[in-house]
Amino acid sequence: MAGILFIISAPSGSGKSTLVSELRKQVSGVEFAVSWTTRAPRGSEEHGREYYFTSREEFQRMIDAGVFLEHAEVFGNFYGTARQSLEEARSQGYDLLLDIDVQGAAQVRAKTPEAVSIFIMPPNPRVLRTRLRNRSRAEGVVVEEEVYRRLSEASKEIENYREYGYILVNDILDRAVAQLEAIVLAERFYRNGETIAYRSRRVLEVAAACLQFNSQERLKPVLEAFGIIGTSGQQQLKFEEESDDD
Ligand code: ADP
Ligand code: 5GP
Repeated sequence: MAGILFIISAPSGSGKSTLVSELRKQVSGVEFAVSWTTRAPRGSEEHGREYYFTSREEFQRMIDAGVFLEHAEVFGNFYGTARQSLEEARSQGYDLLLDIDVQGAAQVRAKTPEAVSIFIMPPNPRVLRTRLRNRSRAEGVVVEEEVYRRLSEASKEIENYREYGYILVNDILDRAVAQLEAIVLAERFYRNGETIAYRSRRVLEVAAACLQFNSQERLKPVLEAFGIIGTSGQQQLKFEEESDDD
């Protein structure tokens, strides 16, 4: 059976890593492609688990040698997915999940249009800022500049949401995990004819509701809060950034 390639993108701090790790606890047969990066390890991150950490020089050598399926510069560091990750998934027939930014996602989509792409949004800028700060705190240090850098990039990344087949708003964690799981199971059902053992009709409905073209009403408040649509949205973004929530 052919494995499915899932691309997941989200503004940093939206909860993508949390969702992916919950998904992998619930659904078997999905492997996570460990990317290469030139950024330093954060908190308890380990080489080979969250990322393969390397120097800029070595990363450049790898680009020149054609190692990467895609690569991009994000927040001043390089990130890339090795071609080998996809080749192994294809030869062994498992589903592969790429956690990559919007630039990398565009490169992968151009090469593999059959990939399933999922964009995860935080519900609003204030929640995103709180999550970025909480994560930094859990890692031992809050670097405000880094929090604001990632926060200010969020709207630009969210503007690309139309390029993605499915959209999740990660507000209540359990619901977002269930939606992500439903998307994976529904795609397996439609592409591979794999049966869904548990509440199959409901799973297909949940996945269908997350399709981008079914999501306009659900996304409206999020897009407004990030100032992507509507002037009232821009005012709200300003308010959110100024308010002190913790
Ligand atoms: P990303 O991988 O998108 O950068 P993380 O998964 O590291 O984001 O999540 C950022 C922070 O937000 C973490 O501290 C995580 O525990 C928290 N978080 C993730 N999803 C939720 C949620 N739905 N509700 C509350 N906190 C969340
Ligand atoms: P972080 O430093 O927070 O782990 O990730 C920062 C950003 O880099 C996130 O948007 C993440 O999706 C993206 N990223 C992680 N790995 C890759 C990769 O292999 N390629 C690309 N293009 N982006 C990546």
